[in-house]
Amino acid sequence: MSVVTRFAPSPTGRLHVGNIRTALHNWLWARQNGGRFVLRIDDTDSERSEERFVEAIRADLDWLGMTPDGEERQSARFALYEARFAELVAAGRLYPAYETAQELELKRKILLGRGLPPVYDRAALALTPDDRAALEAEGVRPHWRFKLDHDAMIEWTDLIRGPQHFDPRTMSDPVVRRADGSWLYMLPSAIDDAEMGVTHVVRGEDHVSNTALQLQMFAALGADAPAFAHEALLVGSEGKLSKRLGSVGVDTFRESGIEPAAVRALLARIGTSDPVEPLTDAAPLIETFDFARFGRAPARFDESELAQVNSRIVHQLDFAEVADRLPAGMDAAAWLAIRPNLSVVAEAADWWHVVEGPIERSAAAEDRDYLARARAVAAEIDWAGDPWHTLTARLKDETGRRGRALFLPLRQALTGRDHGPDMAALLPLIGRERALARLTTD
Ligand code: GLU
Repeated sequence: MSVVTRFAPSPTGRLHVGNIRTALHNWLWARQNGGRFVLRIDDTDSERSEERFVEAIRADLDWLGMTPDGEERQSARFALYEARFAELVAAGRLYPAYETAQELELKRKILLGRGLPPVYDRAALALTPDDRAALEAEGVRPHWRFKLDHDAMIEWTDLIRGPQHFDPRTMSDPVVRRADGSWLYMLPSAIDDAEMGVTHVVRGEDHVSNTALQLQMFAALGADAPAFAHEALLVGSEGKLSKRLGSVGVDTFRESGIEPAAVRALLARIGTSDPVEPLTDAAPLIETFDFARFGRAPARFDESELAQVNSRIVHQLDFAEVADRLPAGMDAAAWLAIRPNLSVVAEAADWWHVVEGPIERSAAAEDRDYLARARAVAAEIDWAGDPWHTLTARLKDETGRRGRALFLPLRQALTGRDHGPDMAALLPLIGRERALARLTTD
């Protein structure tokens, strides 16, 4: 069986971290199995769908390194839905219903008031052709419901949640099409999953009861159902469904200097029994991906954890991967010297500025003689080797200074800062000329 997964966002907004995580899991599973990962744009709702969001979704997936192997759009497939609809109507699996929203709400309230589950009573099925003709003559247009097979218990083994059972008699026949002819999500999605040969549907656990209904739709369509994996939802670091998560997406990541690899490394593993590791490469994530390791508890997304993973990833990035984001003139040696001090790549520019200068220096009065001595030594040593070690070894011998007293005044004079990259790596970048100038006390 060749694996096909799909990521099916509605283009009514930007992707947020929750659906990025779902996309990632679909992508990882497809990659692990040498299968296809399809982007399906769920744009049946023409009012709320916008082209700019379609473009943003594509761009976001590209940035994340999860470019789809194919793209489909539901708005281009209406003829197919229409054909399947007609077949299901002819087979008696779809039926017209005429209740208004208010009538349905009243029925719900009555049932709930009696302590009964608010299941649709199928009153529309009792209408005679004459009743329907009369309603339509009055201008009432029907919506359409899918008739559940009450005798077929619904069961599947979810790849994450294990065995699932639903009794169709406890469920309302779902509305699949509105009175204005527009589609609700459920039937077109089942038709597409069947037609596109989708083998695995990976989505949030908020879809579990939809799956129960859709399994009967697959059967009614004469199609094999895909396997399902419903993942626990994502919550914020405080452990609650958070509004903020809905606005955290690729733009937020880019603005805060988060690398795509960090997003992948974190989102692949949170909520699973595998540890989050700062993996720059997707290969080990693909290799270790396993639905059996997903927990049932919500996955916690913590932005500070993402920042930590990110800095550990930045420390491993090769020059070639970041060259186009570095200031002009900064070469591979400079990158390697500066990299261990960065939490985001953009900070490299600050350190490069320290290398190139001008910098602000302030030498303590008691260090003036020491720095004058340092300048004299720096002027004599061989800069081709390891000038920092040569310089500090000689100063140690000559002045008897050690540790902080030996190193800190030099670091301050040479960089204008108390902390920073390893001076042995930084000093050759600063170079002899600039170093002598910075060690000059006036
Ligand atoms: N467009 C649906 C959603 O965003 C797709 C759900 C699914 O994956 O089937 O909820």
